[in-house]
Amino acid sequence: MLVMKFGGASVKHADAVRNVADIISHHQDKAQLVVISAMDKTTNHLELLAHLARDGKETEALEQFERVKRFHRKQISDLFPADQVEAVEARVTPFFTFIERIVNGILLLEEFPPRTYDRIVSCGELLSTTIVSSYLSFKGLDCEWIDAREVVKTDATWKQAGVIWTLTEENVKKQVKPKMKGGRVLVTQGFIGSTTEGHTTTLGREGSDYTGSIFAHCLEADSLTVWKDVPGILNGDPRIRQDTVKLDKLSYEEAVEMTFYGASVIHPKTIKPIFNRQIPLHVKCFLDVELEGSTIGSETNSEAITSYIVKKDQVFYQIKPKDFSFMEERLMQEIFDYIYKSGVKVNLVQNSAISLMICVDNRKSNNHEFVSLLLDKFEVQVQEDLKLYTMINFSVKNLKEAADAVMVQQHGNKLFVVK
Ligand code: ASP
Ligand code: MG
Repeated sequence: MLVMKFGGASVKHADAVRNVADIISHHQDKAQLVVISAMDKTTNHLELLAHLARDGKETEALEQFERVKRFHRKQISDLFPADQVEAVEARVTPFFTFIERIVNGILLLEEFPPRTYDRIVSCGELLSTTIVSSYLSFKGLDCEWIDAREVVKTDATWKQAGVIWTLTEENVKKQVKPKMKGGRVLVTQGFIGSTTEGHTTTLGREGSDYTGSIFAHCLEADSLTVWKDVPGILNGDPRIRQDTVKLDKLSYEEAVEMTFYGASVIHPKTIKPIFNRQIPLHVKCFLDVELEGSTIGSETNSEAITSYIVKKDQVFYQIKPKDFSFMEERLMQEIFDYIYKSGVKVNLVQNSAISLMICVDNRKSNNHEFVSLLLDKFEVQVQEDLKLYTMINFSVKNLKEAADAVMVQQHGNKLFVVK
């Protein structure tokens, strides 16, 4: 059993979809569950559509809606012979009708709650999977479309839903696993799920990798393959560094540290579910399937290679009790309560006799709330616009990075520098 995940770029036009179909048909000796994202930048386009409606810009919203429709209709007419187009269009029309209803609702009520966000942006994946699975069937593959919302059950944290694992696993075992047979292809949506009451939810932007991992875990699949437009996982961002190399194998731990600290190649939540079942994750290039790619698993051969990850837009706080008290556990607990309450996203923590230092993401309103909670008892120093550098398998020469930093930490082979 294989789980394969294809992102928006891999299905951004008809030729790309044909290439995806080729890749899938080359793996037909196994049962495949294929997870697909919205085509190209459709999620952004649906977000924009909803925001235009929220702001009362009716004409622009309707134009944007036409753009989304036109884009998908073009994929259909490019992919299918004329006598098939109508039938495929009939399959996607209900989603357009649904989007239109939501947009009209937003315009009418002049509000756009997060629950409505999930209802509208989820249509991107529903559209893409409908088109791609229709194409696979048209090419003669034994293909079935699965509604991920009937399988992936979540809480009602709109836009960032948490998976209810027991229910999801039960659904996969009952509804999906029995359908997995050699030569069969099940196609489902990344990024989306639903609450136990059946309300659509989303798992956070770029969450389709995570969906792949959820299915791989619940199916106890042989592997998860994430198909990307890059040759594999690099040891740094090629836009920032010229000397990047591909990592052939990296451990789950290396992968989780890299993705948590900003390597955007895989969604950070993807690693845990596959680690828990020791399922390997292959990152392969859909532009050149012959390339070996990278494998995340229990082995590594990247010990000799330093990975260098940069997370931008960091904020550093130094928090000191106003009365010169020691930074005791009681005070730490109080500060962490505030962190949790205000939704601050912590990346690093350090303490000294009379201060606690944290490096956090720049979530403006959350951070603001956090600081206002502190000000009664604590003095807070802030530095913004910083970067968090993570070096895995660092070498002595990386230590010079620490010279002008506001925060430095070393854990084993990992070096963290904030500056
Ligand atoms: N389509 C969603 C997004 O763009 C999910 C994904 O691509 O992984 O955020
Ligand atoms: Mg996407």
